[in-house]
Amino acid sequence: MDQLQTPIEYLKGVGPNRADLLKKELKIFTFQDLLYFFPNRYIDRSRFYKISELPKNNSEVQLKGQITNIETISQKSGRRLVANFSDGENTIELLWFRGYKWIKESLKKNVPYIIFGRINWFKGKPSIPHPEMDLESDFIKKPSQILKPIYPSTENILSKGISQKVIFNLLINLFKVLKSNIGESLPDYLLKKYNFLNKHEAIKNIHFPNNQKTLSIAQERLKFEELFYIQIQLILKNNRRKKKIKGLVFKKVGDGLNSFFKNNLSFELTNAQKKVIKEIRKDLGSGRQMSRLLQGDVGSGKTIVALMSMLIAFDNGYQSCIMAPTEILAQQHFQSISKFLSNLNISVELLTGNSKKSHRNLIDKKLKNGELNILIGTHSIIEEKIIFSNLGLAIIDEQHRFGVAQRAKLWKKNIIPPHVLVMTATPIPRTLAMTLYGDLDVSVINELPPGRKEVKTYHRYDSNRLKVYKFIKEEIKKGAQVYVVYPLIQESEKMDYKDLIDGYESISRYFPPPEFQISVVHGKMKSSDKEYEMKRFAEGKTNIMVATTVIEVGVNVTNASLMIIESSERFGLSQLHQLRGRVGRGNKQSYCILMSDNKLSSDARKRLEVMAQTNNGFKIAETDLNIRGPGNIMGTEQSGLIKLKIADVVNDNLKLKNARDEAIKILKKDSDLLLVENQIIKKTLFTMKTYKNMWNYIS
Ligand code: ADP
Ligand code: MG
Repeated sequence: MDQLQTPIEYLKGVGPNRADLLKKELKIFTFQDLLYFFPNRYIDRSRFYKISELPKNNSEVQLKGQITNIETISQKSGRRLVANFSDGENTIELLWFRGYKWIKESLKKNVPYIIFGRINWFKGKPSIPHPEMDLESDFIKKPSQILKPIYPSTENILSKGISQKVIFNLLINLFKVLKSNIGESLPDYLLKKYNFLNKHEAIKNIHFPNNQKTLSIAQERLKFEELFYIQIQLILKNNRRKKKIKGLVFKKVGDGLNSFFKNNLSFELTNAQKKVIKEIRKDLGSGRQMSRLLQGDVGSGKTIVALMSMLIAFDNGYQSCIMAPTEILAQQHFQSISKFLSNLNISVELLTGNSKKSHRNLIDKKLKNGELNILIGTHSIIEEKIIFSNLGLAIIDEQHRFGVAQRAKLWKKNIIPPHVLVMTATPIPRTLAMTLYGDLDVSVINELPPGRKEVKTYHRYDSNRLKVYKFIKEEIKKGAQVYVVYPLIQESEKMDYKDLIDGYESISRYFPPPEFQISVVHGKMKSSDKEYEMKRFAEGKTNIMVATTVIEVGVNVTNASLMIIESSERFGLSQLHQLRGRVGRGNKQSYCILMSDNKLSSDARKRLEVMAQTNNGFKIAETDLNIRGPGNIMGTEQSGLIKLKIADVVNDNLKLKNARDEAIKILKKDSDLLLVENQIIKKTLFTMKTYKNMWNYIS
């Protein structure tokens, strides 16, 4: 058996308890898992600090010195062990709050120690709680630890005794017992081309780097490898889908599209829209199933592209559907699409969780007998009992709200899977899109319809609220409609509703009827009430719409030109951007005011600054990525593929491009990985868990 598959409990230093912890907390089951448990950063331990020059923050430092005194102190707050540690000139306290009994026994006075830990400043005095202690004599015997790896950890894991040192020692033990080198997983020609370290050396250097340089080249290789295998899998999947799944062929351009174009389209399409429609048409006629992601900033006009695609389906005798994540959004689509199609003989229906039974039955009947051409709705569309007679095109709006599984359900609505168009306004930076959606073809609408003005955006503190109210009043007098949005975070739902209601009351006081009319919409209302309020606002009957984030996606009221976002510091960047996209839809100058508490974290401040600086969704997304890292970008949670171990889509842009290019090149030449030199790729793929999971939703 492959030694690397040995269960972790067979490693020296791992007893049954520790094995349980490693498995449960760190998902380390085998020798191999431990090897692949990579540090997330390194600390330069070439530096020894003097106590007199310790930085005045909580950074991690390394000191050389001796313990001069040890005592256990009992106080009301509990017991602790305190050691005085001297570097020859000054003294600092080392503290232990746990395990002090055996620590006390193991500490030696008046012998040189190398210690490492995080400084804690209290009343101007530094101390180091729970430092790592090494006798200097031991320290120099160990593999060089100039760059000390820091492994992912949590308080919980630490408190159960799995310290950095424990991991480090386990790895030392593991490398001692490895009978052979860790097997290679990249083909020889790639190793040569990029001058990569071999796998064994790379992994060894990730855990025990000799110096910054070898660490970098080790990382280089492992990052490339990680990205490369993601890309290989995505491209294989895409190729396989294209090959395996025959697409419906929509060759005809017929009356539907033509008469819409001639009679119903009141504006000129932007060049970007034209380009995208061309791409879609090509897909639809190709005989292969379309699986395309349409990215376009809020307000860039994705709906019309969706509609024209559906008209192509219509002209070729097929039904189509749009699935939207919320009821309000589905309704909006229904309204605007019905309007666009007025006087054309094309039937459109809306289906949501709130559709009446009788209406639902009618839709069922019309779907089955082919009378219904376009179905718009929420999740209800993918319910099993909804049966189309010939679904040819399925469109999913605001993809990030739907998971892969839901996409898959749509595919099954026709014997030959329908073409799929996924639309998103979440501006995903290209690198991330490549990692996330490498299996989709991507179209981008990168311009807004002409005449749009930037939404002027300002950040104001709560203390300036009255001035903001005054501004609202002036804008309303000029005919503007206003959104006032409150955050709604699930964990603090109750508080949030209270904020909204309080806000609503204070706004009502300041903007009294009959001069001012106010709508309110939030998630706890009955959907018929929501609908009614939205409608009043959309028809211009109310001046102010007080709402939770239910209006976040898609809502289109062109006369609304002022948006106030309350507690804006609590929103993420992409959410702020989406919200702001609700204004600036007409040709009036629009404004967005970000209200916040006077106290702000530095990240929150950065977010609000970016919002004030730019309207460009892609710039905002890049910033978001930089502040928060890819794991938190909206829409990435579901992907499952994005859990990168070592690479990082923000900083490893170039590597990602290389990895993707190589993957494309290899599969172009050797689409089933049959060549001898590519057997290593195939073998590696079969050891990957993601590889098997990936096919599930295709077949
Ligand atoms: P989104 O991409 O956010 O879904 P919509 O499709 O809702 O954007 O379009 C926003 C608004 O812009 C709608 O009122 C739509 O009718 C209008 N619109 C779309 N394309 C154009 C265009 N080429 N010229 C002028 N207005 C357009
Ligand atoms: Mg939209």
